[in-house]
Amino acid sequence: MRACVLTATGGLDHLQITDVPDAPAPQAGELRIAIRAAALNHLDLFVAEGMPGGADRFPHIVGADGAGVVESVGPDVKTVKVGDRVMLNPGISDYTCEFCRAGEHSLCVNFRLLGEHLPGTMAELVTIPAHNVARIPQLAEELTWAEAAAFSLVTLTAWRMLVTRAQLKAGETVLIWGIGGGVSLTGMRIAKLLGARTIVTSSDDDNAEPQDTEDLAGSSRTHQQARRGCGVRQCRRRDLGGFAALSAARGPAGDVRRDVRTECQPRSTKIVLASLEHSRLDDGKCR
Ligand SMILES: [Zn+2]
Repeated sequence: MRACVLTATGGLDHLQITDVPDAPAPQAGELRIAIRAAALNHLDLFVAEGMPGGADRFPHIVGADGAGVVESVGPDVKTVKVGDRVMLNPGISDYTCEFCRAGEHSLCVNFRLLGEHLPGTMAELVTIPAHNVARIPQLAEELTWAEAAAFSLVTLTAWRMLVTRAQLKAGETVLIWGIGGGVSLTGMRIAKLLGARTIVTSSDDDNAEPQDTEDLAGSSRTHQQARRGCGVRQCRRRDLGGFAALSAARGPAGDVRRDVRTECQPRSTKIVLASLEHSRLDDGKCR
């Protein structure tokens, strides 16, 4: 099959389209998907550059997110059938460890991601567990393959942050530090869906323009934008009504958590973090 692979880590120069052996035939509880679209995440850049625990056998098929058609099913798979249109959840858990048994699958001690630890979605075929796919919902306006492919990783991350962990409710306020990436934009939409108010920050003037965030959130009353670093000061002046949520911020988790606790406590009681990079935060100027 054709696939986009890394021949080594060290950057995008090591990517190439090539022929590789077909994804294996599905075993019990598995499916093989004929991929129709694969989506990019910042994770793909980390993997290409080389990250601890990432790809170490080459050629390595890249890509975490994807959507496609069920091409074949292993024994005992009842949830989907050949020909179904499905989107993939790239996080593979073992469903046996103590965290999985407690329902915390993303904390699995054997957690692996397509495209990072396992062959990815940028290939004609991918074999994955059946419980890692969902039928693409039938909507009045049908999702395109690209939209379905781009859904899973950022949406599941943001949903876990805001709904599962923070238990966000209508009327509460969320600080989203660093708007513009997939997790933070999805988090803003989820907050709006739940009837919460959002404050977003950005070091990029384009991201902080009111019309951009209004268009994305669909309402001019549900958010207030501010440059990075100013958001926490706004929190100090306002009643957040519960908690601050941070997503996709560029900085060490400890620094972000400390800054927000310093600025927002005691009004804010919950902080959720995801997708943190390893570079340091730069202080934006308040306008
Ligand atoms: Zn587990």
